[in-house]
Amino acid sequence: MLVVMQQEATEANIQAVIDRLVEMGFTVHRSTGVMHTVLGGVGPIDDFDPAAFEVMDGVKECHRIVSPYKLASRRFRPSGTVVRIRNVEIGGDQVVVMAGPCSIENAEQIERAAEQVSKAGAKVIRGGAFKPRSSPYSFQGLGEEGLRLIRGAADRHGLLVVSEVMDHTQIPLMLDYVDILQVGARNMQNFNLLRELGKIRKPVLLKRGISATIEELLLSAEYVMAGGNYEVILCERGIRTFETYTRNTMDISAIPVVKKLSHLPIVADPSHGTGRRDKVLPMARAAVAAGADGLLIEVHPDPDHALSDGAQSLHPAQLTELMSQLSLIATAVGRAL
Ligand code: PEP
Ligand code: MN
Repeated sequence: MLVVMQQEATEANIQAVIDRLVEMGFTVHRSTGVMHTVLGGVGPIDDFDPAAFEVMDGVKECHRIVSPYKLASRRFRPSGTVVRIRNVEIGGDQVVVMAGPCSIENAEQIERAAEQVSKAGAKVIRGGAFKPRSSPYSFQGLGEEGLRLIRGAADRHGLLVVSEVMDHTQIPLMLDYVDILQVGARNMQNFNLLRELGKIRKPVLLKRGISATIEELLLSAEYVMAGGNYEVILCERGIRTFETYTRNTMDISAIPVVKKLSHLPIVADPSHGTGRRDKVLPMARAAVAAGADGLLIEVHPDPDHALSDGAQSLHPAQLTELMSQLSLIATAVGRAL
């Protein structure tokens, strides 16, 4: 349930509502917006009378939420969530581009990638140190050494770092090196991992599972948020359908659907969404036109020799071209790049 406080509600009014909710068995999550404080009550009870709250001092309205997710729902924070990391805002006016190789391979590769990504105007470098590969014989990532390399390269080129955490035991290590912890598609419903990520206070980039519905994606976000970590960025990365031409089917419509259902920022990953570098640019354009808050793009200094996902990795010059085309589209939809 959600209690929206009046603009002029006092701290004492807010506390009285919190006390009442706690007394009824709810766990209370507080969101302070520009105009209103919203109190989200998560609990087993659904047979209460909203009017009992609406008559309390300072209360504007009270809603029973029927969707299974509450903290991730748009009503919890109608104005939308902006995830701020240093000078970068995800979910604000700017479309934020996160780009880099699929995997961190060696010092030279990630250094060159960081230089190219930063020159192109992206704000965040991506690169996996722990790789969820379909085959156990494929390159599995450099582990901590990879994290050390990407952090160094990012710092030299003024970039933030996003990298995948595959297991909850890796969280302390990741916290030392990265700015955003990515949960991969295969782990979207690893509920132990999600719960542990709820305990940290760093942004989480949650990718949609290969066969996950939008509701399941939002419920996974709810797991993280229920632990008190509200900094969740969703990612549409394509879903598995009967189509085989592309690696996945990029579900562009998920972007406006999520925007309506949730206050969380959503970025799009057309690299995994299509699996082909020639389709990345058109899908990136479509994603920004559809309202994506950012893009996750694979780019490699030498994609033909990449240790993973070379076919979908852009050449550096293609990233530069993508940035210039996207800036036109971003402007057309009232955003900036
Ligand atoms: C990745 O971003 O490199 C990755 C493995 O993505 P996904 O989990 O979407 O397959
Ligand atoms: Mn990849």
